Amino acid sequence: MKKWIALLICLLLPFGAFALEISEDEFYEWYDEMAYLVDEIGNRWIELPGSQQACDYLRAEFEANGFSKEDGTLIELPSYVPELDLTCTNLIAVKPAVNPDAPIITVCAHYDSQSPGARDNASGVAAMMFIMRKMAALPAFENTELRFVAFTAEEYFCTARNEPHIGSLDYCYALTEEEKARHIAVFNIDILVVDIWEELAFSLDTLGMRTDNGYVTGTEESPAYNRPALAMLQAMAETECYPEEDRDWYWCGPRHMDKTDHESFHYIGVDSVAICFRQTDELGGEWPEFMHTPSDILGDFDLQRSWDALTAVYTAVDGLANDHTYGDAMKP
Ligand SMILES: [Zn+2]
Repeated sequence: MKKWIALLICLLLPFGAFALEISEDEFYEWYDEMAYLVDEIGNRWIELPGSQQACDYLRAEFEANGFSKEDGTLIELPSYVPELDLTCTNLIAVKPAVNPDAPIITVCAHYDSQSPGARDNASGVAAMMFIMRKMAALPAFENTELRFVAFTAEEYFCTARNEPHIGSLDYCYALTEEEKARHIAVFNIDILVVDIWEELAFSLDTLGMRTDNGYVTGTEESPAYNRPALAMLQAMAETECYPEEDRDWYWCGPRHMDKTDHESFHYIGVDSVAICFRQTDELGGEWPEFMHTPSDILGDFDLQRSWDALTAVYTAVDGLANDHTYGDAMKP
């Protein structure tokens, strides 16, 4: 009888699929890493020691999970800030596929901050590192290369270059034409935690997408349903935490919105989504109230929402890594 009930549940679920599970212990590893970045390292502004400490910590974590500079699977890409005569570092971990020409999926988050930066963006860095650990433990995918990137200088506007978020820009500029072409999806995680008292929606922000006629820019009226956004929509449906009736107040997207590292990938014509908590359109689309303030420390968070969000991103990355058509069913 149990078997029949299980089968029935399977048939009733969208696509008959289940989201990946994250146990309570695993979820608290995410929380503890966020807390470490906030409480032990603190402000990660590029001119402060915390920036270098965070970089050293993340490098050590990448190395502990098998990535190394010696075999080329851990790359340090410098970003130079002329007006400060300062060099800061992007960390790129590469998990090659069996096929050397495999499509690339990147999961990224910026580790610099303007404050202790719990929401912005220790929460996102810890999520990227969580998925990195999960995927690093797997055998190589036949036809998917994975990259995990910790970006610097997202919070800094470089006046000498007149450019924002130069960490991710430098990474995008450094990609070869061949690497750009191989990139099928970028998941940029920026703010994956929400205060209990604050009215924010879990959001997917996009700026453009590849089509049969080349890369096109989305608009507010017609936002881009690009590949990582579609994969997120499928994964969100599989978690069952984001029902359609909750759309536009509890969760939103895809929406045509900028102001984080997914913008850099948009400039080079690579499908990218920013995964974040920000206001609905109705409320103005603003970021969390404590962002960029000294109050961006650990707070009274709605951790269930982070757990659901982390489950959705992990499921989307895994789904797309296993099947490059994952999410296609969500095309509008
Ligand atoms: Zn941020």
